[in-house]
Amino acid sequence: MTKRSFEEADVRGKRVLVRVDFNVPLSDGSVTDDTRIRAALPTLQSLLDRGAALILATHLGRPKGKTVAKYSVAPVAARLEELLGHPVKTVGAVTGPNVERAALDLKPGEILMLENLRFDPGEEANDPEFSRELARLAEIYVNDAFGAAHRAHASTVGVAERLPAFAGRLLLNEVSILGKLLAEPKRPFVAVLGGAKVSDKLAVLDQLAMRVDALLLGGGMANTMLLALGNEMGTSLVEGDLVESARRLAESARQRGVELLLPVDAIVARSIDDEQVETVAIGDLHPEQAVFDIGPETVDLFCAKIATAGTIFWNGPMGVFEKAPFAAGTMGVARCVADSPGFTVVGGGDSIAAIEQAGIGERIDHISTGGGASLELLEGRELPGVAVIPDA
Ligand code: ADP
Ligand code: MG
Repeated sequence: MTKRSFEEADVRGKRVLVRVDFNVPLSDGSVTDDTRIRAALPTLQSLLDRGAALILATHLGRPKGKTVAKYSVAPVAARLEELLGHPVKTVGAVTGPNVERAALDLKPGEILMLENLRFDPGEEANDPEFSRELARLAEIYVNDAFGAAHRAHASTVGVAERLPAFAGRLLLNEVSILGKLLAEPKRPFVAVLGGAKVSDKLAVLDQLAMRVDALLLGGGMANTMLLALGNEMGTSLVEGDLVESARRLAESARQRGVELLLPVDAIVARSIDDEQVETVAIGDLHPEQAVFDIGPETVDLFCAKIATAGTIFWNGPMGVFEKAPFAAGTMGVARCVADSPGFTVVGGGDSIAAIEQAGIGERIDHISTGGGASLELLEGRELPGVAVIPDA
């Protein structure tokens, strides 16, 4: 079911509260990656063109309900101003009389950005009073914060219950593309899963195992699977308590005829800072070594499968790609995903960083801006911030 689009809202001369996900990385008071800001521009530009006054609200970092200066949205507002070529006002508060005055004074085409929503404990608590204060600022609500849609917070759910609510273009796009992966993927559907832990992604692994034609596992999570299948994993990151779940997953994939591809070789070292790295076959690991990346034969194996795919979903790096000796596996797989003729979707904060590092972002069909939200959607769960918006 598609959600009511912001394009159907009559916004001329109205104050529109737009929940955006501008939770971007900052360094020394400036934005180091503005991908998430740029992703919301089509919605913002369209609303401005149609004569709306915009009140923007985002969270930033984890200030945990208190004002924390380093999490102020000021640098974000400055970056948005550059990108839009249009002034963005700030008032240094989330709610209160100054904010209300500034909101009421807005003229069509003007933009006000609220301070970090999470400076107020009411945000994450989905507090009704805080939701009412937000709702009072505007006449219409648009949610374009896909990355926050899996959270039932005041700005994603509470306020949507109190104003006519619409979905923004980014949110609609994400829900539609990820929804299609579940409903009607072009086959073969190949999922490449990695990252640090199985525990973060067990639910999505279980779901994907029911829908894909092939499941390729790398990164730390493959270690637990390899351990479950009886391999010596040395001092690798493994989750002993998930060995049984991993074994069950492998068994259910086998019963469904899902091809499960695991690393056949690895880049190992005695510690993550060890310069002495070695490439070994899985099974030949020394008890004092740990796996920090997939090996070249595994890259070839994975790439051969990726090259045949109609649809590819990739989440989670294949190794500790932040460290040069352990980056080759992730970079290799990134290049193969980019080269694949299939429809390619990549999600996850670190996975996107890896895509950028590989310089192949332009050649991915869809880069999901929502890490947790995209995984929850692929688990088949309804996201609270999406559910609350009326259907089209
Ligand atoms: P995403 O943010 O894309 O969802 P995750 O947060 O799940 O990805 O995982 C990314 C992290 O996993 C990276 O910091 C990477 O260093 C780590 N990682 C990948 N492979 C291994 C491994 N073999 N051992 C330890 N950590 C790993
Ligand atoms: Mg991550």
